[in-house]
Amino acid sequence: MKPDLRDLARGELEARLSRLGEKPVHAAAVFAALYRDGAASFGAMTRVPARVRRLLEKEFSLRGFGEPETFVSAADGTRKLLFSFPGGAPAESVVLPGKGRLSACLSSQSGCACGCVFCATGSMGLIRDLRPSEMVAQYEACLRAAAGPLSSLVFMGMGEPFLNWENLKKAVLILSDDAGHGFPQSGMTVSTVGVVPVIRELAGSPLKLKLAVSLVAADAGLRARLVPAEARWPLREVIAAARDYCAAKKAQVFFECIIFDGVNDSAEDAERLARLIKGVPCRLNLIPHNPPGGPGAGVTPRVKAFQKAMIASGVRTYLRLEKGPDIAAACGQLAARRGGSAG
Ligand code: SF4
Repeated sequence: MKPDLRDLARGELEARLSRLGEKPVHAAAVFAALYRDGAASFGAMTRVPARVRRLLEKEFSLRGFGEPETFVSAADGTRKLLFSFPGGAPAESVVLPGKGRLSACLSSQSGCACGCVFCATGSMGLIRDLRPSEMVAQYEACLRAAAGPLSSLVFMGMGEPFLNWENLKKAVLILSDDAGHGFPQSGMTVSTVGVVPVIRELAGSPLKLKLAVSLVAADAGLRARLVPAEARWPLREVIAAARDYCAAKKAQVFFECIIFDGVNDSAEDAERLARLIKGVPCRLNLIPHNPPGGPGAGVTPRVKAFQKAMIASGVRTYLRLEKGPDIAAACGQLAARRGGSAG
């Protein structure tokens, strides 16, 4: 089967055109045709010379993915998009309304191999990595669903992005290419459970992505019970890599901490967490746990007390409120199930 033209970053396309005896500069016109004009076939790429189109058509395919099913939250207008990618690979994206802004949460894998015990995606296991074109297709569908510009993209949907890093990197390059969508890398955040080698690679790369690290618990034993990846990338190594990332990029890291009622929300837990991340330039997002089956307890007095304790320790700490709980679109709930009213 021929590779999909939309899986190539512009640099790769330029190299391929050179090998075919064409000028690399045509790659910019191809990008503009695909991503600005929305050309769905080689024939529709009218700004590309016909000779180049014919050459590309011999080498590449242009698969169509079809429209995703859309579910709209009656509670807050959050939209969940359910895709069926080739080979029986479902994936979900979420369009999240905020204060005068819209952001999109994209998936990097269909399912996930990490098996975090609180996560509906983890219970699916890994079906397969998503291709760059499939991540870009999610962005384009979110843009249509948002009916307005998106101010940020977060790779926090299904999957562990750093376990599909090569494809994710290409998707980032394609999305941010000025000849195409031109979405700024600085408006994209990638969230990891702590894949240390890739955090270190990102730190040394020219990419301008923001980094979010999911901590879950500051106690390594408790974390190991909730996040099996702790056995492979222990918390102390994750924090050391995040610290080095901040120094290399002169940036802050976003630490994410899901708060489980009565599990990791005591005053001692807050103290331990403050000690763990002390000195790392960061912002801490607390996310009250959303069980896979339905809305969680929300912001309880214990969650508020935890936030207060973290702020008192000098950590900039925010509560990330649940979005789209009635359509299973909140953090940890994405499992390619239908939910809410089709929109
Ligand atoms: S929380 Fe993230 S890394 Fe863990 S199982 Fe779910 S999708 Fe995978």
